[in-house]
Amino acid sequence: METPATQTLPSRAKMLGSASAFGAALPFLALLLVGVSFPLFGGGYWGVIATRACIYWVLVSGLNLVVGFAGQIAIGWVALLTLGAYATSVLTAGNLTPPFPPYLALAVAAAVGAIFGLIIGLPALRLRTFYFAITTLGFATIVTQVALAWQSVTGGGVGVAGPIFPEPFSSLWGFYYFCFGLAAICTWMTANVAASRFGRALTAIRDAEVAAEASGISKPALLGAVFMFSGAVAAVAGGLFAALQSYITPDAFTLDLSILFFIAILIGGRGSILGPLLGTILLTALPEFAAPLVAWSTFLYAVLLLVIVLAIPGGIAEILDFKNRRPLESERAIIPRPDLIERLLGALPDAGALTLEQVALSFGGVCAIDGLDLEIRSGQVHGLIGPNGSGKTTTLNVISGYYAPQCGAVSLNGAALPVFARHRRAHMRIARTFQTPRIVGSASVLENVMIGGTVDGEGTFVESLLSLPRHRRDEVMLRDTAMLALAAVGLDRLAAVRADRLQHSELRFTEIARALMLRPSFLLLDEPAAGLSADEIGRLGGLLLAIARAGTGVLLVEHHPDLIFDTCHRVTVLNLGRMLAAGTPAEIRSHREVVNAYLGG
Ligand code: ADP
Ligand code: MG
Repeated sequence: METPATQTLPSRAKMLGSASAFGAALPFLALLLVGVSFPLFGGGYWGVIATRACIYWVLVSGLNLVVGFAGQIAIGWVALLTLGAYATSVLTAGNLTPPFPPYLALAVAAAVGAIFGLIIGLPALRLRTFYFAITTLGFATIVTQVALAWQSVTGGGVGVAGPIFPEPFSSLWGFYYFCFGLAAICTWMTANVAASRFGRALTAIRDAEVAAEASGISKPALLGAVFMFSGAVAAVAGGLFAALQSYITPDAFTLDLSILFFIAILIGGRGSILGPLLGTILLTALPEFAAPLVAWSTFLYAVLLLVIVLAIPGGIAEILDFKNRRPLESERAIIPRPDLIERLLGALPDAGALTLEQVALSFGGVCAIDGLDLEIRSGQVHGLIGPNGSGKTTTLNVISGYYAPQCGAVSLNGAALPVFARHRRAHMRIARTFQTPRIVGSASVLENVMIGGTVDGEGTFVESLLSLPRHRRDEVMLRDTAMLALAAVGLDRLAAVRADRLQHSELRFTEIARALMLRPSFLLLDEPAAGLSADEIGRLGGLLLAIARAGTGVLLVEHHPDLIFDTCHRVTVLNLGRMLAAGTPAEIRSHREVVNAYLGG
């Protein structure tokens, strides 16, 4: 039996999708129009500037996925421009092999760029922030030094001639259109990725890595694909750059150029395509408006960056984000719809039980959990209570694979859960929320929830790049499911709102919606009622019972006695890492030690 409200949900999702997609495409269409008609109003010199802007954007579009979306500080990406420029030039000149036609040379350069993009990117899996930044700078230096030293091939300090693309791309405007076309394709491809489960996963890795892992996102595989793409387009940009310069020497590839690419993304705004695109155009054109400014360009970039970081941290994208400037209703009640849970979760197979046997873990001298037995059965809510520091979150982290227990075993239906393979938990349909909500603040509520369904997409990264049918099907499926999950937790009206504008209690429900996207067999909740009003706690209880009725086993870590005693089928009480009591709510309520130690009379 479906109410009219439930029938309209997917269509609302579709409307939301198509209206926002059109609004988002509008500025790109305007830029396309300006770009195509540019030769009508720009003189010859401006043709060179516009071509350069297109070439820089080809590189920045790919780098944007690395820096703006995945949040990896790759400041030495000029290394790949250099590599692509030399690969294309050397192959067309025939210094190493018989001469290649320029298009083939460009394609080979792209392949070389993909390989080196991966190699340069690999340290990101181990090194964080500045350490990774320094390794990319190191690569930039190495590439330039090799270009200088390998004289027989690269011409050393004397340089090598760039490729010449045949008619119709040999003239100034012909070559401009060639570069413009490639820039447009790169924009389209990166916009496709940004609007795919991969783009959302990248922002999750950037802003909420533990939530990304809990949603089953494999960081090495995803970053690997992105580094390869980014390396390939950067090398293509290099080939075009060499053609535009007509002659290249190692000193054409300065660190200033690398900083320009990086700053274009920062002033454009992280997690945006349009912002960095405008940033690239701005930084390429700015020094040209007045000749004296050229000498000051580095200074200008620095000032611009400071102004942006201090005044508008979200960059150009934030200035253009009119939608999120509208005030939100101040009195917003969260009214979950437990009746939608069954439709959302479908018929869950009986997953058996998640068991902890004699699990012990200590951090140095602190014994966080000490011989804990726990059995979470499907279709039941299992409460885990205890004072602060009694080991509740640690128990969740052991089940999620963050810590290896020093003794004992964690098993799902008798099979031991792999230690440390955290993203594998999502594939086993074990979902969780966090004591402090882990949310991508700059993404919409809907996008945050869609992150939870990442593992259920079928299309590959390449299919998303090219917006092939499987990618589009995934997106429709994820969007509809996420709308349904949001309606179930009572947040569907806020779907389009940027998540960092939500109140704390709304973030808690957003996390639950994200976890429900997995159609979990087991759902681990870490203090979901913290910060909720009494009414909201009551409704949360109803929601949790509906989730359990659908067949999910819920582990509820909580402090609020009412929520525990009203919703749980069984309760385990922890104290100093040890089990103080276990039983039904009625047994726990009358347990003398528990009442004395914890419930307070
Ligand atoms: P709870 O969630 O019940 O409040 P926790 O599981 O967070 O408690 O913590 C249990 C104990 O383990 C606390 O004494 C805490 O200080 C300690 N602990 C938790 N995580 C770590 C860690 N990564 N390193 C050192 N001590 C930790
Ligand atoms: Mg805790």
